[in-house]
Amino acid sequence: LGDNQSQFGQGLNSLRVRFTLMVAVLGTLIAAIAALWFSLGIQSQNPVLLWLSTAGLLTSIMAAAGLTYVMTGNLTRPIESLRASTEAIARGDLDAPVSVECNCEVGGLADSFKAMVARLNANVSRIHTLAYEDGITGLPNRTVLDDVLSDVGRLRGGGILFIDLDRFKQVNDLFGHQVGDNLLRRAAQRMLGQGLGMGEEALRTCFSGIGPVAEQAPDGRMLFRFAGDEFVALVPGPVSGGELCDIAGRLIDSLRAPFLIDGQKLEIGCSIGIARIGVDSDDASELSKFADQAMYEAKRSGRNRYVLFNEELRAAVHDRSELERDLSQAVDNGEIRVHYQPKFSIEDETIAGVEALVRWQHPTRGLLGPGTFLDIAEAKGLLDKIGREVFRLSAVQLHHWRSSGFDTRIAINVCPSQFLNPAFAANILSFARELGVEPRDFVLEITETVAMSDSLAADDQVRRLKEAGFGIAIDDFGIGYSNLSQLYKLKFDSLKIDKSLIDNIDTDVEARRIVAFSIGMAHDLGQTVVAEGIERRQQLDVLAALHCDYIQGFLLGRPMPGDAVQAAFAQPRDFRRQKLIASIA
Ligand code: C2E
Ligand code: MG
Ligand code: MG
Repeated sequence: LGDNQSQFGQGLNSLRVRFTLMVAVLGTLIAAIAALWFSLGIQSQNPVLLWLSTAGLLTSIMAAAGLTYVMTGNLTRPIESLRASTEAIARGDLDAPVSVECNCEVGGLADSFKAMVARLNANVSRIHTLAYEDGITGLPNRTVLDDVLSDVGRLRGGGILFIDLDRFKQVNDLFGHQVGDNLLRRAAQRMLGQGLGMGEEALRTCFSGIGPVAEQAPDGRMLFRFAGDEFVALVPGPVSGGELCDIAGRLIDSLRAPFLIDGQKLEIGCSIGIARIGVDSDDASELSKFADQAMYEAKRSGRNRYVLFNEELRAAVHDRSELERDLSQAVDNGEIRVHYQPKFSIEDETIAGVEALVRWQHPTRGLLGPGTFLDIAEAKGLLDKIGREVFRLSAVQLHHWRSSGFDTRIAINVCPSQFLNPAFAANILSFARELGVEPRDFVLEITETVAMSDSLAADDQVRRLKEAGFGIAIDDFGIGYSNLSQLYKLKFDSLKIDKSLIDNIDTDVEARRIVAFSIGMAHDLGQTVVAEGIERRQQLDVLAALHCDYIQGFLLGRPMPGDAVQAAFAQPRDFRRQKLIASIA
C-alpha cells in the first residue's frame, strides 16, 4: 500500500498545488485584464469605453468563476464516486466496485479504501469458513444444516439420514484425539465418495449457494458434520424410501473396510436413522428428532445398520416426549424415590452398606426404574437436579436409620457428565454441609468411562472428594474399554465388577479367570472388590473361593425402600437370610 500511495498527490497531482496554480493563473489573468481595460477606459475619458471596460472586467471574473467551477468539478467527481462506493459497501454490498481514476489525493484515498475492502472481504470469508465449515472434515456444519432445513418445502421431498459412528469413542479414548480427528476426516471422505457417490470437489459444492447461509435449496446431496461422531446426509428431491435405504446401505458399506491410521488398523462402523421429508413430517425439528430416534433404534438393534422411521417409532417418540414433559416436574412434585440395595460381606453375609438406586413414582405409569428415564434426564439437563434429590433423600434416610439404631454407609451413583463438571466436588461438599451429613458416610460410584474421557479432571475431582472423606468406587467394571493404567491413576477405594462378568462365573472358566485377575489386581493395589448381580448360590461360592470382598445381588437382597431395608436387616442374621431367600423364591 505504501509504495502505491507514493504515486498519488505528488507534484502536479497534488490538490494543493493544483488549487494554488489555478488561483495564481486566474488571478494574474484577471488582474492583467482589469489593468488593461481600466487603463484604456481612463485614458480615453470616454464613458462608453469606461462602461465597456467595467463590463469586460466583470465578464472575465465570471469566466474565471466558470472555469473554476468546471475545474473543481473534475476534482470533486472522484470524491462523489468514492462516496457512492462507500454507501454501497455500508449497505452490505462488499463487492461494489470502487472506480476512482485519479492520481490526486482522492485517488490515493480510493486505493486505500479498495485495500480495506479487500481485507474486509477476506476476513468475512474467513469468518464464514469458521462459522459454517467444520474445521476437521471440511464439511458444512450444523449451522448450515439448520439453515438448509429452515425451509423444508424448498427441498421438494427427499430424506435426512442421521449417521452415528460406532466405536469411534473407544478409538478416540485409546489412541488420542489426533488419530480420532484423522479417522473422522477419512470416514467423511469415504462417506462422500463411496457412500454418496460424490467427488472430492463435492466438498466445495456442498457450500455452493451458501452465503449467510443458504439462499437457495441445494440441488444435490450434502453431507454435514453434525457434532462429535455424528454426521447428517441430506438427499433432496423426489426420492423413495427404498432409494434412501439403498443410500444408507452404501454409507454403511463405505465404512466397513478398516482404516489404517498412524500404523493402527482401526475398525469402526455406523448406525443410520432415516426420516422422509414430507412423508414422516414437514417440520425440520421434528424430522431431525425422528431421524435421531431411528438412529438410536439402529444402535439398539445391533449397530452397523439403518432404520427407516416408522409408526412404531412415532409412538415411542410420543411416549418419550410425554416422559420428558413429566420428568421436568418430577422433582418438584416429590415423585422421586430412592430404593436401597444392600451390599454384603462375603465372609459372613452381614450387611456392609447399601446402594441408593433412583426410582420415579410416575402419577399414571407407576414406579419406573432408572433405565426408563435417566437418559431423558441427561438429554434434558435434569441429571443434576435428580442427583441432588437422590442425595437429599439418602441423607434424610440415613438420619432416620441412625435415629432408630441402624447405621450404614450409602453408595450414590454419579453419571460421568455430572462427575466431570469441574464444580461437582465443590457442589456436593457444600450440599452435604447443608444437609448436615458427613462425606465419610457416603461412597460415590462412578463408571470407568470417567477415567477415559478426561483423566486429569477426573483425577483432580477424585482427589478432592477423597480428601473430604467420600469413598470412591468404580462401578460396572469390565464393560467399558478401560485403559487400565489410566483407570488406576484414579485413586479409588473399591472396584465393582459388572454383572455381565459375573453371570457365568460358575460355569465358564474364562469368565472365572477374568474375575480372578480383576480381584487380584485390585487387592494388589489395596482396593476392595464388590461383585454385582449375584443371583445364584454357586456364583457366591466361586467368588468366596476367589477372595472377593463383597457381593450385591438379588440372591441376598433386592433394591427396596428404606423402611424395608431396616425391617430386614435389623433382624438377627440367620433369620434375615431366611427371610430374604424366601422373598426371592
Ligand atoms: P448400577 O449402579 O450398576 O446398579 C445396579 C443395577 O443392577 C440396579 O439396577 C440393580 O437393581 C440391578 N441389580 C442388582 N442386583 C441384580 C441382580 O442380581 N440381577 C439383576 N438382573 N439386576 C441386579 P437399576 O436400579 O435399574 O439401576 C440401573 C443403573 O442406573 C445403575 O446401575 C446406575 O448406573 C444407574 N442409577 C441408578 N440410580 C442412579 C442415581 O441415583 N443416579 C445416577 N446417576 N445413576 C443411577
Ligand atoms: Mg452403582
Ligand atoms: Mg453397576
